[in-house]
Amino acid sequence: MKLRKLREEVVAVGMEALERGIVHGTAGNMSIRDPKSGLIAISPSGMPYPTVTPEDIVIVDEWGNVVEGRRKPSSETPLHTMLMRHRPDISTVVHTHSHYSTVVSCIRKKLPDILTEVVLAVGTVPVTRYGLTGTDDFAESVVEVTGPDTRAVIIKNHGLICFGQGFEQTLGIAEIVEEAAKVYVNALAANGGKEPDVVPAKLIPGMLKHFQANYGQPKN
Ligand SMILES: [Zn+2]
Repeated sequence: MKLRKLREEVVAVGMEALERGIVHGTAGNMSIRDPKSGLIAISPSGMPYPTVTPEDIVIVDEWGNVVEGRRKPSSETPLHTMLMRHRPDISTVVHTHSHYSTVVSCIRKKLPDILTEVVLAVGTVPVTRYGLTGTDDFAESVVEVTGPDTRAVIIKNHGLICFGQGFEQTLGIAEIVEEAAKVYVNALAANGGKEPDVVPAKLIPGMLKHFQANYGQPKN
């Protein structure tokens, strides 16, 4: 069986996302790219997370052709593979139907800079135009708003997609973007529907510089 370790990682991240409340039921899908072969291990279509074993994970090439697997890959495989082609620097993709991110997808063109943490650790989170789910059009709607530094995109009337280097980092991004979306929606409600205060745009470049220079433990 090809890429056993990566298959196990896809199974584990599905359970982790379920336990952390990032996904529910059969919604959402995850993939990871093997740096050597470029092949991608992706979750199967429509299977509840606790029932998925490494044998159920499907190996596809970067065009979504099945290389090995007894199951049908996620119906959103074109989204994962187009993103992987568009961003050779990323190895993991996590797509969820997170509630508050989906609320924002219905009302805004981007997630407002509501939380300092997202501004610093994720950056701008754009919202796509409407795309036809499961098709290349859907994938294109995401790629169109994905720049070289984008780490998360909210998908119009649908959900959230995050990408990065490794599932731990990518799940963390999904979690804080959803938290920011929740704060935003609650702040709107608490503010009588008026736009809440956001992180002042003119302070962001300086904050980023300070964060990059000072955050975490010193490297030796
Ligand atoms: Zn979806």
